[in-house]
Amino acid sequence: MGPLRMSRAEAPDASGAGPGWRVAPVGPYRPRMKRSSLFVPILSILLSVLPAGAQTKAFRGATLWDGSGSPPLRDATLVVRDGRVLAAGRVPTPPGSEIVELTGRWIVPGFVNAHGHVTGAWAEDGVEGDGRRLLGDLLLYARYGVTTVNSLGGEPAAALPIRRDQNRPGPGRARLHFAGPVIFETSPDAARAAVRAGAALEPDWIKIRVDDNLGTTEKMPWPATMAVIEEAHALGLRVATHLFYLDDAKRLLRAGSDLVAHSVRDAPVDQELAGLLRERGVCYVPTLMREVSTFVYGERPAFFDDGFFTRLAKTSELRRLGDPGLMNETRSSAAAAAYRRALDQAQENLAVLSRSGVTIAMGTDSGPAGRFPGYFEHLELELMVKAGMSPEAVLLSATRDAAACLSLPDVGTLEIGRWADFMILTADPLTDISHTRRLEAVYVGGAEVR
Ligand SMILES: [Zn+2]
Repeated sequence: MGPLRMSRAEAPDASGAGPGWRVAPVGPYRPRMKRSSLFVPILSILLSVLPAGAQTKAFRGATLWDGSGSPPLRDATLVVRDGRVLAAGRVPTPPGSEIVELTGRWIVPGFVNAHGHVTGAWAEDGVEGDGRRLLGDLLLYARYGVTTVNSLGGEPAAALPIRRDQNRPGPGRARLHFAGPVIFETSPDAARAAVRAGAALEPDWIKIRVDDNLGTTEKMPWPATMAVIEEAHALGLRVATHLFYLDDAKRLLRAGSDLVAHSVRDAPVDQELAGLLRERGVCYVPTLMREVSTFVYGERPAFFDDGFFTRLAKTSELRRLGDPGLMNETRSSAAAAAYRRALDQAQENLAVLSRSGVTIAMGTDSGPAGRFPGYFEHLELELMVKAGMSPEAVLLSATRDAAACLSLPDVGTLEIGRWADFMILTADPLTDISHTRRLEAVYVGGAEVR
């Protein structure tokens, strides 16, 4: 590996795409072609003579882990122009650049959450209007280093203009992709109509729920489920599926589901499931923190004492969760106990699938009540490591792999041409995953999030 890591400039961000956007195989990440050996010296010469321009920043002296799968590079420089990565590695600082000295720090790509939710519920109290409240959720995600959120259902209509407005330097909050209304219909005709109505909102995904909530409700009937997948694909939209059971996961994959948005939690996964995921290039999103949120508030959670949590935790939500009645109810809830067991199964299954070469995309299902956006992502990474993945594999799942699973070519790594969405850490996250919480600053599109 040479001192400079390059990739081709990427195609324009696909985030403006809507219906008619072709269904592309999601597939695991494939490394790009290597550049010729002449490219590095030529780029170095260009960087040292070209005028920097007003918008050029050079982040110098940090250890750079760029999310591409390359090992970390000490004493690196990240050059950012107009919100995108212009160069990264042991490269000269273009004359006239604004210099940010980062000796002793780590630069890692911002996290991509493959399954979150934004509804506006986490905006500060008193913020008015759907759009402003939604931006409040996205700001909170970004302050924790989650720089792209794939919201899988339930967003207000303001999501579309907000997504359209993010393809520029410094949007000042996390980037948003979304699924629109979650589809649940009992007849195939109604299901097709619901997909068409959803598609009119220009979502990135169609989301369906195939679950009986521990046997307490009816599942969407199978013919209607099939109709959703067929209709979405006919409109050029991919389908993300909420599921719980191993058998449902298999039949949904055979029917063409494009993203498994939760862990299989009822039974140990097998090589048949791993094979289906691999062959079809479908990614698996564990959302372990979803399970945690169902039982953890039966007691006062340990993370209530983590300063990284408390500094941004919403006071009204903390008050609600601290209510003794709610805590009692949670402690005696059979569903909470069942989901606690489901978490163990989910962690076991994650270990098997990641070892089997299935692409794992980090996702939390954060955003609903009790699931703190941004902070839960850091705990998710920790649970993934506890399940048996290495910190490096977990970080890749939260950056490069999640971006590839969502077909987002402009984020996820700090390769040339991508958006400069990154975090500055004061400790090495590859030796201890909890070091992602030693977060000093977050940049989206080259500008610091405040
Ligand atoms: Zn969800």
